[in-house]
Parts: sequence; structure tokens; C-alpha cells
Amino acid sequence: MASRCPTCVACGGCAPKSKPDLEKIREEVGIKSFYNLKEEVIEKNLCSMCRGCVTFCSASTLEAIAILKGKPDYINEKNCLSCGICYAICPRTSSLENSLRERYNYSLPIGSYKSIYSLRSKDLQIQEVATDGGFVTGFLKYLMDEKIIDGALISRREGLMNNQPMLAMSFKYLLKGAGSSLAVSSSLEDLNIYTTYIPSLLMLKGLGEFPTRIAVVGTPCQITTIRKMQLLKIVPSNIVNFTVGLFCYENFHFTEDGRKFLEEKINARMSDIEKINVKESMIVKLSNGKRIEIDLDELHRIVRPECLPCLDFANWASDVSVGGLGSQDGYTTVLARTNQGKSFVDRSIERGYFEEDHMFDKNEALEKIKSMEIKKRTRGLKRLEELGLDSKEFE
Ligand SMILES: Cc1cc2nc3c(=O)[nH]c(=O)nc-3n(C[C@H](O)[C@H](O)[C@H](O)COP(=O)(O)OP(=O)(O)OC[C@H]3O[C@@H](n4cnc5c(N)ncnc54)[C@H](O)[C@@H]3O)c2cc1C
Repeated sequence: MASRCPTCVACGGCAPKSKPDLEKIREEVGIKSFYNLKEEVIEKNLCSMCRGCVTFCSASTLEAIAILKGKPDYINEKNCLSCGICYAICPRTSSLENSLRERYNYSLPIGSYKSIYSLRSKDLQIQEVATDGGFVTGFLKYLMDEKIIDGALISRREGLMNNQPMLAMSFKYLLKGAGSSLAVSSSLEDLNIYTTYIPSLLMLKGLGEFPTRIAVVGTPCQITTIRKMQLLKIVPSNIVNFTVGLFCYENFHFTEDGRKFLEEKINARMSDIEKINVKESMIVKLSNGKRIEIDLDELHRIVRPECLPCLDFANWASDVSVGGLGSQDGYTTVLARTNQGKSFVDRSIERGYFEEDHMFDKNEALEKIKSMEIKKRTRGLKRLEELGLDSKEFE
């Protein structure tokens, strides 16, 4: 591991292949530091808990901040060099937002995209365990087979109520992660809270110095953090060469009360749940084969509060973004957003990894995605105002 330079700005610039854009950092962030992040984001309950700030800081061996009592905080304030990078990469600050929008041609409401598909993996092993059409697992396999990536940052179910991040370096491990999208994990910091949010960015800690190329699967806040890191050219984002963004209306968060609330809604025990999926509603499949659909508006008691101020549903800054919304059961809706996203998706279809749903109505799917995006955005702006913030600043 590279030793710390005496004038270190925690940029990771000493790591191979990564030359940080210091000018851009200064221009965007000015003198803002973790102190400002605490004041403007964390203490105002805006933090998405993506843990990008902690991942970056630890990645640079500084360890000035860590998760304390469930939130990012100083552990060694004197080690903080006020470089401002944690502030700049936070998905909840407006830093770099304009540059990001420009880079990914953002326009309201769902950002730009080149093509939309409804796809199902042809691999029966994948189909059996996938959340929707198994596109994500099949596509990561394609990227690995073609040596475009060495591995993928996904999540893995490690037993009932336990879902953790995983760096999958082979198809065997991709399969272990398939379908785990809404399994509940015990929060790493507080074992009494169960959440569907997986703190996967923490897995990137320290990886920036390895000659590896990975794909990251993540929610909009996680992908935004990675993209902001990439704009600044800082470790560990240098090893991410593909992003798969999940559509995400919200995550769920269960204390004992929340668990009881859901059990009453589904009239069954949590242990009877075989699978939870979200499209425009929550779909719960029980081990006895019963399927229960619950309107998302009825679930506010178990919505993870950190998700409420979020304004991004369709993950506009990713290379491809995916969800079940708009497709029939058993298929994944895929928006190819970047040129490389489109060319890899098209090639993977040509190589026989996927079958397309020929009954798929693209316009109808796009309308549904736009409508969820607007619904989420409206809720997010309202939440920002409830928190006493000027919502215009975030639009
Ligand atoms: C929290 C959350 C909320 C979602 N909300 C919606 C929604 O509102 N509407 C909608 O249409 N779709 C939503 N989705 C997406 C949907 O549930 C499926 O993940 C998506 O359609 C892909 O299905 P698939 O069969 O192609 O994926 P699969 O082949 O089953 O693979 C899914 C992959 O995603 C990985 N993964 C899941 N979550 C994470 C994570 N946080 N970090 C890293 N890897 C992860 C899994 O390990 C697996 O590799 C959500 C997903 C998540 C995780």
C-alpha cells in the first residue's frame, strides 16, 4: 500500500492509474469538509447511508471518519485534512451535480437512455433464482466471460434475514447473489435494525490499489457516489468500469414493531416469506405459494427514512438501469443509458445470453417508469421542505 504523502489531500493520487482532478475538487467544493457534511447532510437527516464518505476516507488509510452510532462521524478529527472529497462525492450534496448531469446528458424526468428492453436470461439456473428476469446475473456473467470485468460488487443472502455485500469473482458467486435484491440484512452497525439496504460500497475499501476491473450493482445513491468519485478520478472508483443501476423507489427498515406491522399486512410470519420484490407495489411471495401485493403508500411505517429525500428512481447516471417495472413477471426491464451500456447489452443479446419479450410495450413501460420517477421526486421534494431545506437547491 502506498504511504501517505506529507501534503496528502487524501486523493489516492499515489495509487497507480489514478490521477485526481484537484483543480475540479477545489473549484466544486471550495473549503467544505466533513465538518460541513455533518452539519448540512448528516445532522439534517439527509444522509442516505451509502457510506461513500467512509469508504473513500478509509480507502486512503486516513481513517478520520467511520460509522458511529449508525452515522458517519469523526473518529480521528485531527486526521481529517479537510480535503473536501467526502463532501464532493456525497449523493446528497449538490457538489458535482451539474458536471454529472452534463456527463450523462440528464434531462427530466428519467435521464437519457439509448434503448429499452425487456429481457430474460436463457440460463435455467439463473431463471430459477432471479428476482425478475435474471438480466443482472446473466449480464454480469457475459461481462466476465468477455473479460470486460474481473468481478462484480453485488450482494448475497447468507441465511434468513441476512444479506451482505459480496465481491463475486466467478459465475458460482454471481449465482449466490442472484435474487437477493430485497432480502433483509441486519445493519452492520446496529443489530436490532433489519434493513433491505446493503452497504455494498464498503467492500471497495482498499481495492483501488489492485489491478482489477469490476462492475458495481447499486441503488441510485450508491451509483451517484461512484460517479462523483469517477469525476474526481479518485480511488477506489478507478477499478469500476461498469455500473448496473437498480430502479429504486425505497428501501425498508424493520425494527421489532416494523416486523409486526408487515406480518399483520401479509397475515403470515416473516419466516414464511420466500421472496419480496418491488415494482410499482411490493410483491410478497410466501413459501406456501401465496402472492400478496401491497401498495407502497401503505408501507410508510417501514420505509427507511434515509430514502425519503431521494429524488432518483431510475438511476440515471448508471451504464444500464434495471427493474421489474414495465415488464411481465419473469422479465427485467433494461434501460441502456451510455454507449458502452448499449453496445454490451446488444452484444450479449446477439451472443444468446437473453431472450427478448416480443410482447413488451416500450411506451407503456416508459410511462410507468416516468410515473414512478415523478412520484418519487414529488415525495422527495416534499420531504426536503419538511426538513426545512430549500428544495429548489436539489432540483
Ligand atoms: C432496494 C431495492 C429496491 C428496488 N426497487 C425497485 C422498484 O421500486 N421498482 C422496480 O421495478 N425494481 C426495483 N428494484 C430492482 C429489482 O428488484 C431487481 O433487482 C431488478 O429488476 C433486477 O432483477 P434481475 O432478475 O435482473 O436481477 P438478478 O439476476 O436477480 O440479480 C440482482 C442482482 O442485484 C444484486 N443486488 C441487489 N441489491 C444490491 C445492492 N444494494 N448492492 C449490490 N448488489 C445488489 C444481487 O446480489 C444480484 O446480483 C429494487 C432493487 C433493490 C435492491
